[in-house]
Amino acid sequence: MESELLRLKQEAGEALDTVKDSAGLEAFRIQYLGRKGGLLTGVMRQLKSVAPEDRPRLGQLANEIKQGVELRFEEMKTQLGGGMQSAAAGATDYSLPGRYLPFGKLHPVTQVMEEICSIFEGLGFAVAEGPDVESDYYNFEALNIPPHHPARDMHDTFYVTDSILLRTHTSPMQARIMENQEPPLRYIAPGKVYRCDSDITHTPMFHQVEGFLVDKDVSFADLKGVLTAFTHKMFERDLALRFRPSFFPFTEPSAEVDIACVICGGSGCRVCKRTGWLEILGSGLIDPEVLKMVGYDPDVYSGFAFGLGVERIAMLKYGIDDIRLYYENDLRFLSQF
Ligand SMILES: [Zn+2]
Repeated sequence: MESELLRLKQEAGEALDTVKDSAGLEAFRIQYLGRKGGLLTGVMRQLKSVAPEDRPRLGQLANEIKQGVELRFEEMKTQLGGGMQSAAAGATDYSLPGRYLPFGKLHPVTQVMEEICSIFEGLGFAVAEGPDVESDYYNFEALNIPPHHPARDMHDTFYVTDSILLRTHTSPMQARIMENQEPPLRYIAPGKVYRCDSDITHTPMFHQVEGFLVDKDVSFADLKGVLTAFTHKMFERDLALRFRPSFFPFTEPSAEVDIACVICGGSGCRVCKRTGWLEILGSGLIDPEVLKMVGYDPDVYSGFAFGLGVERIAMLKYGIDDIRLYYENDLRFLSQF
């Protein structure tokens, strides 16, 4: 038995040396390692019939030889590349394209946010970012919204403590920048904002871009010019704009801005509720009270401010009718952008 094992070891080694391709390797596997009728497997079976005192020693030898042959067989298989599967299939098609990993992409909201920023940077605005967890002072008081002001009701605020909250808009950056710098100022502040609200057009967290400009002799005409230039660039066509009188505590006068419906072009459809107009942002001239609060003389300086919802712009740009799709992380949705 021992001599037979050593002979098989030698024979298997020589047989492996002559293997040239995966078909030859498969033939080798059947001849020596096959479950039924493989030569090595057959010798292992004979172990049952050897004398009990020889069994441990011969068993160990047989196992070492079998493992050695299997190891060389696996090495050979790797060397030949294709392995058993392609041997069974006949041949390897080297003209097939390789496997590739799909590229990741920026989230559509991030893409639109970056586009908004780059348009305003082109108009000479600098980008500034501030904290998501904000004090009551910067979020409300510095923007002319004192405690108990009814405008606080519009905000559905998440409070952390009585004086700390998750910012409800990106407007706190106005006060933060103005109290540290002298005009002329031209800034946009992109970022996340939080409100306790959720339905097909609202999520508890969404993105805003705040913009403001302070200088001497800034008028409503400047605001209209900047927003018109922005809208035309953003939606890649010369859409009509409409300024509707509105109220915000930190601007006076205030206006909500509509654009001609991007879906129907103004003739009326379901998206614009048959009005032909879509609201895209809030804006106005900075209230003199806000300028006074940061130490500017409102008789010398004036400015305008606007705030736009990034998801809203992204929905209009891509024709999405449910804001929640942006946050479900469904790759089938996200990979379209
Ligand atoms: Zn429409």
